[in-house]
Amino acid sequence: MTHWHHDHVGGMPYILRMLEKLRAQDPRVPKPRIHKFAEKKTDSTFFDRVADVNPEAYEPYSESVGLEAVLWPLRDIQTITVSDPEDTNLTSSVRAVFTPGHAADHASLLLEEDNILMTGDNVLGRGSTVFEDLVMYLRSLQRSLALMSIRRPTLPGIYGTPLAGNAGENVLYPGHGPVVPKGRDTLRRYIKHRLEREEQILALLLGTPGDKTFSTEAMAFPEKILASYQHTKQPRHPWTLHQLIEVLYADYDTKMYPAVANGLFMHLKKLSRTLEELPNAPFYIADPLPTTPWTKEGRLVRCTRLPSFQYTTESIPDAARNEQEWWELMSVPWVLAV
Ligand SMILES: [Zn+2]
Repeated sequence: MTHWHHDHVGGMPYILRMLEKLRAQDPRVPKPRIHKFAEKKTDSTFFDRVADVNPEAYEPYSESVGLEAVLWPLRDIQTITVSDPEDTNLTSSVRAVFTPGHAADHASLLLEEDNILMTGDNVLGRGSTVFEDLVMYLRSLQRSLALMSIRRPTLPGIYGTPLAGNAGENVLYPGHGPVVPKGRDTLRRYIKHRLEREEQILALLLGTPGDKTFSTEAMAFPEKILASYQHTKQPRHPWTLHQLIEVLYADYDTKMYPAVANGLFMHLKKLSRTLEELPNAPFYIADPLPTTPWTKEGRLVRCTRLPSFQYTTESIPDAARNEQEWWELMSVPWVLAV
C-alpha cells in the first residue's frame, strides 16, 4: 500500500477476497502480504479496512492480533523481489521508498529493472495533488527526482521483466490518472509549481487586499513585482488567508475554502521560518530544499495574531483541526516580515 487514504486502502478487502478465490483454484498462488510504512496516527484507520477480512486471506506478519498481525512494516529502500516459479531467472524487484508529505506514511515504489516509479498520490496523471506537509512533500519530490536520475542497468544474471524495454525508463505510474511519460520533467514541474505559488504569495503580500489590478499583476508576474520591491520600504498591509484564497482560487466556491486553505497555510508556515528552522528530511538528500531566491533574506512572513484555538506556545499558528477552526484560521492576519 502506498498510503492509508481511503481511496487507496478501500479496495483492499475485495482484492484479498479475489486472491483467496484464485488460490482456491490454484494452490500455487501464494498468500498475499500487506506491506506499508507504519505510522502511529493513521494505522488504526488503515486497520479498520481489514479488520473484518478472514485472517486466512493474507499471510500474517506476527502471531499477535490486530494491526501487528496484518501489517508487514516496510523499511526505507527495502527491496521486495519476486520470481516466476516456472523460470526463476525472471525476476522483478520493487524498492519501497519513503516519500512522506502527501501523507505521513506515503511510499513510492521503484520497479528496479525498469526504472519506473509508482508515485502513489505524490504525482498525479493530471492536475496537481494536495499535501499534509509541504516541506516533506518537496523533499520527497526531490528524492523521487534523484531516484529517476540514476539509470540502473539490469543486474547481471537477471533478465528482468521490462514493461517497455528502455522506453519504460523515466516513466511515472501515478495512483490516479494516466501514465506520465516524462517522469523527471514532471517532477521538476511539480517542484517549480510550489515555488511559483510561494512567489505569488510573497508578491501579493506586497500589495493591498482588494487592489484587483495589483493582484492580477502579482499572480502573473510575481518575480517582476518582487524584484522591483526588494529594497524599498513600502507600507506592509496585512492579508488574511481568506483574502489570499480569494485571489489565488478566484474561481472556487466559498464552500471549498477550508479544503484549499491547508496548502496555502503550509506555504505561509514555511515562509515564516528560516531555512535552518525547517525540519530535516527523514532520509538522505544531497540537494538543499527548493526555495525561492527571496528565502535567503530569512523569515519572510509573520503572523500578527494567533487563533484562539492555538494548541502550542509557538509564534506561528497551529493547523486547524476542524472546519470551524479553519474559518477562524482564515481570518488571521499575515504580513511581510522583510
Ligand atoms: Zn492520497
